[in-house]
Amino acid sequence: MDFNIPIACLLCLSSLASSVITLGTTPGIQNIFIGRCLAYQELLKPYPQTEVDCNLLWVKFVSSFAGKEPCELKSEDYSGFIEMSLSSIPEDKAMFWSGTYRVAHDYAESGNRFITLEDTLLGYIMNGLTWCGQTAPPGVNYRNCPSYNDCPETASTAFWGTASSQFASQAKGTVTILLDGSNPARPAYSRDSYFAKFELPSLSPDEVKMMNIYVVHAINQPYRETCENGTLPALQQAVKDHGLSYSCRDNPQ
Ligand code: NAD
Repeated sequence: MDFNIPIACLLCLSSLASSVITLGTTPGIQNIFIGRCLAYQELLKPYPQTEVDCNLLWVKFVSSFAGKEPCELKSEDYSGFIEMSLSSIPEDKAMFWSGTYRVAHDYAESGNRFITLEDTLLGYIMNGLTWCGQTAPPGVNYRNCPSYNDCPETASTAFWGTASSQFASQAKGTVTILLDGSNPARPAYSRDSYFAKFELPSLSPDEVKMMNIYVVHAINQPYRETCENGTLPALQQAVKDHGLSYSCRDNPQ
């Protein structure tokens, strides 16, 4: 059976987690946050983890950003919140993605095959949410959060940068990255991506033995980039410079 086709088909449907346009903090964020936290721990339990108190976690999250200027948040503002929800990742299970949100998560099978950041408690709760603070009461802005173009480090990007680094720093054994070799609008490996800026540099060369790079292609579209050309050689060099072994495969089984 040729597994290249299903993977490529999923890529056709690829869309990013944050494609929902929200102007301000997600309405009902507290209920969503606590509900997701409970559902993750009581129902999903994708792998053994220490339980956290969802109400306390919410308080920790809100205190990270509420009442603060949204463009002045630092990654340290989230340290307490992130530390409280952090747990170790089983060996050989960590998977990263860049431009391949849908196909990576379908392939990861909610932690059964691989564990993405969004399969951890922290990523599961925060995925797709928008939030930002304001100095005026009530401290949370439900009308309008600045975009990445408005300020370089928004409430969301400061969070995702730290969460991505922490996730990568927990990885052990073999790690996997899924990249899109067909997208005309973006390179398969971008130095501006969270993967390049936060995840690759946070991998421990002592703990991570190997990086499997998978390049996936959409059906009936040109192979714009493969392991041998485009931005993939630069990624392989960066992985090598970081002290890791790697393999690179186009459309693996
Ligand atoms: P990507 O380019 O597919 O981006 C992932 C998300 O971050 C998208 O919503 C994108 O719009 C946004 N984004 C990307 N670069 C940005 C930037 N410079 N400023 C503001 N927003 C930006 O892939 P990526 O950047 O490599 O990030 C994916 C990797 O990082 C994954 O491995 C994941 O572990 C982690 N991550 C997850 C999320 C999430 O929303 N779940 C967000 C950021 C990072």
